This record gives sequence, structure tokens and C-alpha cells, in this order.
Amino acid sequence: MSESTLPPEPTVANREAIQSRTAHIDHPSLGVVLVCMDPTGLLAAAMGWNFVSRLRPAVASALREKFGEHPIVWEGPCDHLVLVFFDVDKADPETVERDLAERLSRQVDVDGRSFFIPTYLGIAIASEVSTACDAIDLVRASGAAVHQAILSSATSVRATADSIELLQQEVAATTELAKAIGSDFSLHYQPIVDLSTRQRVGFESLLRWQVGDELRLPADFLDAAETTSLIVPIGRWGLTAALGQLAQWQRKSGDTTLFMSVNFSARQLVDRGLVQHVADAIATSGVPAATVWVEVTERNLIETGSPAAQTLLELDALGCTICVDDLGTGFAALRYMVEQPVQVVKIDRSLVSKVGIVEPLRSVVGAVCALSASLGILTVAEGVESEDQVDKLRDLGFTHAQGFLFGKPAPATEFEF
Ligand code: C2E
Ligand code: CA
Ligand code: CA
Repeated sequence: MSESTLPPEPTVANREAIQSRTAHIDHPSLGVVLVCMDPTGLLAAAMGWNFVSRLRPAVASALREKFGEHPIVWEGPCDHLVLVFFDVDKADPETVERDLAERLSRQVDVDGRSFFIPTYLGIAIASEVSTACDAIDLVRASGAAVHQAILSSATSVRATADSIELLQQEVAATTELAKAIGSDFSLHYQPIVDLSTRQRVGFESLLRWQVGDELRLPADFLDAAETTSLIVPIGRWGLTAALGQLAQWQRKSGDTTLFMSVNFSARQLVDRGLVQHVADAIATSGVPAATVWVEVTERNLIETGSPAAQTLLELDALGCTICVDDLGTGFAALRYMVEQPVQVVKIDRSLVSKVGIVEPLRSVVGAVCALSASLGILTVAEGVESEDQVDKLRDLGFTHAQGFLFGKPAPATEFEF
């Protein structure tokens, strides 16, 4: 069948239409671009759903105007357009990508008014994905690519041979993660010592995930937990478990100043129910609020007035001890130590390991300790591994330390009181 005798295009893409329209094409030269419009729902929220239903035809017609008959532009599901190219070979994609991006960066007329429409592109080219794939496979691969584009805030992403498989693994991993909450997660605890006495004065709780015989570390699952927001229920479970353990240790030792430092990620801090959950966990466990250390990385302190900063103020008002984790790895802005309710800073292992050896690092860390002391802020050196680091850290003014030298993270049963 020649192109001119083909039936007219349906406006909305469907499997049959795409298959019949591409059946005669030599697969290696096929390419599909999926255009995702208004990914955050900005226009839908600002202009209403009726307006959004007009987006697909409007952008489709702008693209047809620019590109003519080729590619075929179909309206896809939700706020997507499906563009099928017949002759994309390895040399061509950059031009296609550039031309599309150029047109989409300009305004589009919708119902007689001009709008800029935020878009992301997922591009799947047969020769780059798999020469054995057909147009339907490419539509799926372009979907995987557009997902990556949105996640990484890149205007466009090109699908690779394993794009779909990687997403399938992600789906499987997150399902596994969701199933594990409440059963296969556990906490390890690492002692924190007072450097002047070398006495254990508290612990940091660290998440572990048991999968069969393997004990997984946060590096293996924290990213997935954060991007899927599963960190919220996981973190709630972790906080309740850690405070339950702290209450038990405080009772056993009779020391109600023993503290538990708990990590909170950015995603947890914007969870509106977090403060109430912390308040409930403190009430249930009966530990003094000040013995609950809330660890946040300095990245989360950045915006005064942001929802995360507001959560910190509320946790401070509850009486918790606010602690800046990994100081020296992000935007070390002293302003935040002064403006926000910070009572503890933890200096990252990457700096601690060089302190005493490398100048001007030594002076900078010394200055941070001095500033902290003048503000009444405690300073914890993280990742202390050797005895000869201890004197240097004390000389610099660190008040506390944590690291393999004083104890590796271990299950609660390994600690005696
Ligand atoms: P972090 O908060 O900086 O925790 C310290 C990490 O350094 C831990 O790794 C700990 O095992 C390791 N470490 C402690 N002392 C030493 C040392 O002397 N030498 C060396 N080489 N490493 C040491 P881990 O347990 O793998 O945790 C990694 C990160 O995962 C943590 O970094 C924290 O950011 C995050 N994380 C852990 N538990 C939780 C949690 O319950 N919630 C959240 N949101 N994040 C968590
Ligand atoms: Ca930490
Ligand atoms: Ca840390």
C-alpha cells in the first residue's frame, strides 16, 4: 500500500491505527517521540480541565504546521502526543530533537489565546532501542524515556535498549519495598560518645532491610523509597521503633538524658502529618522530647519559610533537638545555623578523615566548632575510625564523636546497659 492510498489518520492514537500505519515501514528507520504536556498540572490548575482538553489538538496542530505530513502526529492518552517518524536513522535524531524543542519552546494558540505549554519529550529510535521492535514497542520505550525526562527535569531523554526493563525493575523493587514495611525493616544503632569523657551518651538509628539472607543498607533502597514517597511510612515506622528502643534503654539505665538521633529525609519533612506523628511517638514512648534528635541534612535547611523549615520550627517547638547532618557536604551556609533552631551539627566523615592533615580544612572546621560553641551548638565528628583522630578532634573543639572506633551500627541486642 502506498502512502497516498492509506486511510485518513484517526486523531487519537490507538494500537490498531499505529500498527496499520507503520506496517509497511522498515523498522530500523522508525522513531517515536512522546510529548508529555503540562506534567505538573499547572495549566489544568490555572485554567481548568476544559481548557486542558483543548491542549492536545492545539499542540498537535502547531506541530503539524511546523513539520507538515511527517511525522504523523497523534493525540495520545492523557496529556500526551505521539509522533511517529518513518525515516529516523542515527544521524537524524539530534535535528528532530532540536526542531521539536524549538517549536515547543514557543507559545501555542489555544482557543484564540497564546500560551507557553511546559512539555517533556521521550524519544525512542528503533536503531537505538532494538532493531527487532515495532512502533508499539517504541511507543512504550518513549513512555519510559519521558518518565526519565520528568524525573530528571531534562527537556528530552532518548530511550535505550534497557529503558523499559529498568522501569519494570523499579516497579518490582518499589512493590517489594512496600510489602516490607512493618516486617522486613529493622534498625541498627550506632553509639555517639561525649568526647570529653568518651562515655556513650546516645545513639543514631540506621535503617536496614532484610531480604532473604542479605541485609541491605540505605544506599540500596533509600532513593527508591524517596522517589516513591514510601520513605514516609517507612520513616514513621522507624521513628516509632527507635523511640520505643530509647524508652527501654532509658528505663534500664535510669539515664533519661540518653538520646536517639533519627534521620529524616526531605520528603519526610514535607509530610504534613509528620509533626503529629513525632508528638504521638514521644507521648507513647514517654521519652523526654529533648532526647529525640531530629537529623536533617543541610540541604533541607536552605529555604527559611519553606514547608521543610516550617516542620523544623514545629519539631523544635515540640522540644526535639534539631541536628544538621553531613555539614560540609552541601551548601555550608552559616546563616542557617544562626537563623534556624539548630542545636547540633554533625561534620561529615569526608571532612573528619582529613581534619588535622589538610589545611585550610583544619582551620575551617576549627572555625565551625568555635562558632558552634559560641551559639551553644553541639558538634559531632562522624566516621571516627582511629585513635589518633580523637585528640585532634578534641583540640579542634568537637564535643561529640561517632564512628567505627566507638562502635559499628548493630542491632539493639548487642548493646548492654
Ligand atoms: P548518615 O546519616 O551520614 O549515617 C552515617 C553512615 O555512616 C551510616 O551508614 C553508618 O553506618 C556509616 N558510618 C558510621 N560510622 C562510620 C565509620 O567510622 N566509618 C565509615 N566508613 N562509615 C561509618 P548507613 O547506615 O549505610 O546509612 C547511610 C545513610 O542512609 C545515612 O547517612 C542516612 O543519611 C541514611 N539513613 C539511614 N537510616 C535512615 C533512616 O531511618 N531514615 C532516613 N531518612 N535516612 C536514613
Ligand atoms: Ca545521620
Ligand atoms: Ca551523617
